[in-house]
Amino acid sequence: MPNFSLDDRVFEGAAERFPTPFHLYDEKGIRENARRLNQAFSWCGDFCEYFAVKALPNPAVLRIMREEGCGLDCSSATELTLAKACGFSGDRVILSANAMPPEEFRQAADLGALINLDDISDIDTLKDQCGVPERICVRYNPGGDFSIGNTIMGNPGEAKYGFTLSQLWEGLSRLAEMGAKSFGLHAFLSSNTTDPSYYPELAGILLKLGKELAGSLPLKFDFINLSGGIGIPYLPSQQPIDIAAVGAAVRKVYEEILPEGGVGIKTELGRWMTGPCGWLVTHAVHEKKTHRDYIGVDACAVNLMRPAMYGAYHHITVCGKRNVPEDHIYDVTGCLCENNDKFAIARALPEIRTGDLLVIHDTGAHGFSMGYNYNGRLRSAEVLYTEDGGYRQIRRAERPEDYFATLDGDPAAAELGL
Ligand SMILES: *Cc1c(COP(=O)(O)O)cnc(C)c1O
Repeated sequence: MPNFSLDDRVFEGAAERFPTPFHLYDEKGIRENARRLNQAFSWCGDFCEYFAVKALPNPAVLRIMREEGCGLDCSSATELTLAKACGFSGDRVILSANAMPPEEFRQAADLGALINLDDISDIDTLKDQCGVPERICVRYNPGGDFSIGNTIMGNPGEAKYGFTLSQLWEGLSRLAEMGAKSFGLHAFLSSNTTDPSYYPELAGILLKLGKELAGSLPLKFDFINLSGGIGIPYLPSQQPIDIAAVGAAVRKVYEEILPEGGVGIKTELGRWMTGPCGWLVTHAVHEKKTHRDYIGVDACAVNLMRPAMYGAYHHITVCGKRNVPEDHIYDVTGCLCENNDKFAIARALPEIRTGDLLVIHDTGAHGFSMGYNYNGRLRSAEVLYTEDGGYRQIRRAERPEDYFATLDGDPAAAELGL
C-alpha cells in the first residue's frame, strides 16, 4: 500500500503556508530509505548507491543523499553540473546515458566521474573526447525476454539500451587495448518491479558474466551495477519490498558465485529511494456533473505526468476525510486541453467539495521532474517537510517570466519588459 506515514495535518499545515499545488517531500522518510538500503548491503565492503538524479533533481534532496553516503547517477550534462554544484566528488558520480552529445563524456571525465557506456560506438567517441579511463562501466542487454521463473519481467529485446553479448566481448577487449584496466557491468532489465527476486537474479547474471569476461580478458572485474528498477507499492493491494531480504538474497548469490569476493556492488535506485516520500498537494477547485462526475483540481499533468503517460495509478486521499466512506465515483482531472489529464478515472472516493485538500501519493520520484509546460501551465513549487517538523520551500513555483525567459531578442519579451 502507499505510504501513509504523514498525518493529514502535515499537508494542511503546508497548504496554509504555500499556495497549491506543490510537491511535499518527507526528509525523514528519504533518510530512512537511504539508511535501510545501506544497511541491507553493508555485508559488501564496496557498496554504493548512486541515486538516479532524474527521479528527483532537487539540490536539497541531492545533498541529503550525499549526507547519507550516496553518490549520484546522472544522465545529462545538466545533471552532471547539478552533481558538482551539490558538492559531489567525481568518484561519487556515474554518467549513464544513451545517444547523448559526445562532449558529455568529456564533462564527465573532467569531473572524474565513472562513465557507463551504452553502445560499442561509444568507445571511439570516448577515445576522441577524453581518452579511455582506467576504470569503465559497460551496459549489458541480453535481448529476448527477461523472465524469473514463469514471469516475464521485462523485454530487453525491444529496449534501446546496452551492448549485446558479442559486443561486450569485442568492446571490452578494445577498451583493454586502449588502456582500460578494470571494468564494471551494468544492466537494467525490469522497471518498477516489486518482485524481491529481481536484484538477486540480476546479480547472478552479472557476476557470472563478469567472471567469465575477466577470465579471458586482461581486465580486472571491479563491480556490478544493479542500476534501478526496484518498485514501490503504488496500489493499496501491493506490499512494499523488503530491502533487507533483497540485500541478503543478493549476498547469497554473490557468495555462491564469488566466494573470494573483491567485486563491488553499485545501485542506482531512484523510485525506491524517494517515490513514496513525495505527495502532490492540490485543492479541489471545480465540480462538474455530465456523463460522469468530475472533480477538477489545481494541479494537472504538467505537475505529475505518470497517469497521463502510462495510465499509472496514484492513490488519492482527501484531507480530513480518511474515515468517510468512499461512496462516490469520480474522475479527478487537471485543466489541460488533453483528455488524458486525469489523476484518477472512475475512482471510489469520499464525497469531495470544492475547497477540499487532496493528496496524490507517491510523487517523490519521476513526478515533478517529468514536468513540462503544455498549455502555458507552470511547474509547481517543491516543499521539504524537514526532520524537525518544519517546512522549507526548496523550489519556488514557476512564474510567467520563467516561461518567457528563453525568448531572447523576441519583441514579445521586450513588450513584457523582460
Ligand atoms: C531511470 C534510471 C534509473 C532509476 O530508475 P528507477 O526506476 O527510478 O529506480 C537508474 N539507472 C538508469 C541508467 C536509469 O536510466
